[in-house]
Amino acid sequence: MTSPEQAHDSATTAPGAANAPRVTVVGAGVAGLTCAHAFALRGARVTIVERNQGTGQGCSWFAGGMLAPWCERESAEPLVAELGFESLEYWRREVPDVPREGSLVLAPPRDLPDLRRFARRTEAFEWLDGPALAALEPDLAGRFDQGLFFPTEAHLEPRKALAALTGKLVAEHGVEIRFGCSVVDDESDPATDGADIVVDCRGLSARDRLADLRGVKGEMLVLFTREIALKRPVRMLHPRIPVYVVPRGDGHFMIGATSIENDQRGRVTGRSMLELLSAVYQLHPAFGEAEIVEIGADVRPAFPDNLPRIRKRGRTIFVNGFYRHGFLAAPALARRAAEVALDGAYFPEVMDEDRREW
Ligand SMILES: Cc1cc2nc3c(=O)[nH]c(=O)nc-3n(C[C@H](O)[C@H](O)[C@H](O)COP(=O)(O)OP(=O)(O)OC[C@H]3O[C@@H](n4cnc5c(N)ncnc54)[C@H](O)[C@@H]3O)c2cc1C
Repeated sequence: MTSPEQAHDSATTAPGAANAPRVTVVGAGVAGLTCAHAFALRGARVTIVERNQGTGQGCSWFAGGMLAPWCERESAEPLVAELGFESLEYWRREVPDVPREGSLVLAPPRDLPDLRRFARRTEAFEWLDGPALAALEPDLAGRFDQGLFFPTEAHLEPRKALAALTGKLVAEHGVEIRFGCSVVDDESDPATDGADIVVDCRGLSARDRLADLRGVKGEMLVLFTREIALKRPVRMLHPRIPVYVVPRGDGHFMIGATSIENDQRGRVTGRSMLELLSAVYQLHPAFGEAEIVEIGADVRPAFPDNLPRIRKRGRTIFVNGFYRHGFLAAPALARRAAEVALDGAYFPEVMDEDRREW
């Protein structure tokens, strides 16, 4: 396996060279944009085809933007954390405003066993008592006796990060983006004509080609209040609905997220909002007085084991199955996808056994 630095150095075609491979990326979510970047960095001539009128307006639009590999270790496979470390460095290098303020994990006093269980399942954290918590987040002073602090984690604002990446692709790499263009079939669609490589990043829409892809609905809301300030994402453990709060600056907070096994894109239930709001009210009553700025939902694309995959079929490379980890894992998958397509590399951790030509 090659490191990101080696990959960057090896077999890179001069940008715009006559022999540069022509790559069409279908879908401009976090997967498509990071793949476009990975191929462009290798000198490919990249076109992105997107059915919407802007980038990042699918599932990626609703993400919290937590870059929290250690916290995710609590419930996800170790692979997710490994991909997360690489991706965290990518975002910090490539887009502005990726605060590395760490993450806090809290639980109401009656749920302290859950906090201990969370601690047992991960690492790279510090136990904090009440005064230490108050020093980090003064507005939470006196509300919690114990918490876990993961100092090396970071967060970003997904919509701003994808806009910055889009600007970079166009301005620095000459990537062409064709909006309002829906690709029906990667192999025969006129939009992919002339491409040497097609990278299919259609998220859940790729179910027509990836039969084991399923949808996991996530609902979120954005609140506005000047009554509380937070520097870093805070996760509140709760037996039924764990909730997180991601500060977005200027009094805005993203509250997420439900995780429901269905694919009803865009439908938000009163029950989910009640649960998210009551959990965040437990974190701080100021959220009870906050203005609701936005309510949203989308469907996360996931394979049965909730791990992302690269699959190759003919000239098409599928990069999909990001589940709850699109921002956490996409840059690491994108780098591998470029190596699979351009160097014939094989990455067993994200490619199914016996399915090199899937
Ligand atoms: C509420 C919520 C909170 C989340 N929080 C986080 C988080 O904190 N951290 C994290 O890492 N992840 C988070 N996620 C998960 C993350 O959002 C997803 O894993 C990620 O967005 C998937 O990205 P994608 O590019 O595969 O899909 P998408 O973002 O859906 O992109 C697919 C793109 O393909 C386009 N497309 C589809 N069909 C076609 C076609 N036929 N032709 C052309 N274009 C097409 C779509 O319009 C879309 O732009 C969250 C998800 C939700 C719902």
